[in-house]
This record gives sequence, structure tokens and C-alpha cells, in this order.
Amino acid sequence: MRRAVCPGSFDPVTNGHIDIVSRASTLFDEVTVAVGVNKSKNRLFTVEERIDMLAEACRDYGNVKIDTFQGLLVDFCKDRGIHAIVKGLRAVSDFDYELQMAQMNSSLVDVETVFIPTTPEYSFLASSLVKEVARFGGDVSSLVPAHVLARLTARLAERRDAEM
Ligand code: ADP
Repeated sequence: MRRAVCPGSFDPVTNGHIDIVSRASTLFDEVTVAVGVNKSKNRLFTVEERIDMLAEACRDYGNVKIDTFQGLLVDFCKDRGIHAIVKGLRAVSDFDYELQMAQMNSSLVDVETVFIPTTPEYSFLASSLVKEVARFGGDVSSLVPAHVLARLTARLAERRDAEM
């Protein structure tokens, strides 16, 4: 079976992520979306919330499952017999770092990185930017699924109330 992983923080999942996951699901028999658990980073959503949103967003893809990883992604791949890491490339600025990481990962274990070029309409899209724009009242309804928008709006309102 040809297995791939789409790693990320997905805080929250965007239409850009879903585009890459759905395209990966046509190339591989099984795709695992792996949510990185990194305690040092300040996140808007908990790991469980991020998993819930991903599960809802990916429920139409029969060969996609959601998991978490901690530590090195290559160890996650080795444990699960995954030989491909799928990354979306938005712009040249993504490339330097992604190339370095791809080469490092393949030097550690038997794994290839497959780059999928982003659909142009999502090339500016990042979770961090979605949060920033939504925080200041911008319309992000075309950038995330409706259920994510609802959670995002609610969480930002909670945060605003807490700050007052
Ligand atoms: P972000 O960069 O949105 O904060 P993540 O760290 O969760 O998101 O991203 C995980 C991976 O998803 C990235 O390495 C990249 O490969 C891919 N990705 C994120 N946003 C997009 C997008 N708009 N188009 C294509 N790929 C994307």
C-alpha cells in the first residue's frame, strides 16, 4: 500500500490545506493528516479541536485519516510504514526551507517528499494570516470551511471577552 503523510499544525485547517490533502488522496492509497503536537507554540485551538475540524473537513475522503505526531516526523513515518511526505508549495519563499527539510528527512530514513503546487487562489493562504484577518473583523469565509469559520468566530469572541 502506498501511504503518505500531510503534516502541519492546522491551527485551524484552511481551504489551502484541504486542497492539498484532497489532491494527495488521489495519488496515494492512504493519506494521514498528522497534527504536530508542539507544546512550545502558542495555538488558538487545542489539538483535539484541530483534529475535530480536520475530521469534519476530510470526511468525504475515504482514504484520509487524522493522527497526531510528536517529535520527529520521520519517526512517525518509520513507525507507520509511510514513505512519502506531502507538502504544499505556495511560493518560492516556501521552497528554501522545504527543500532543506526534505533533504534532511530523506537522509534520516527512507522517505521521499512530494511537493504539490498550491492552487493559485490559495497561494497567499496561511492559518496565521486567517487568524490575523479574522481577529480584526475581516471576511475569511471563502478561505476556511463553514464549520471552521463558526469555531474561529466563537473562539476569537471568547478571547476578546476575556481580554476586557
Ligand atoms: P500554515 O502555514 O497555514 O500555518 P501549517 O503549518 O499547518 O500551516 O501547514 C502545513 C502544511 O500545509 C505546509 O507545510 C504546507 O505544505 C501546506 N499548506 C498550508 N497552507 C497551504 C496553502 N494555502 N496552499 C498549499 N499548501 C499549504
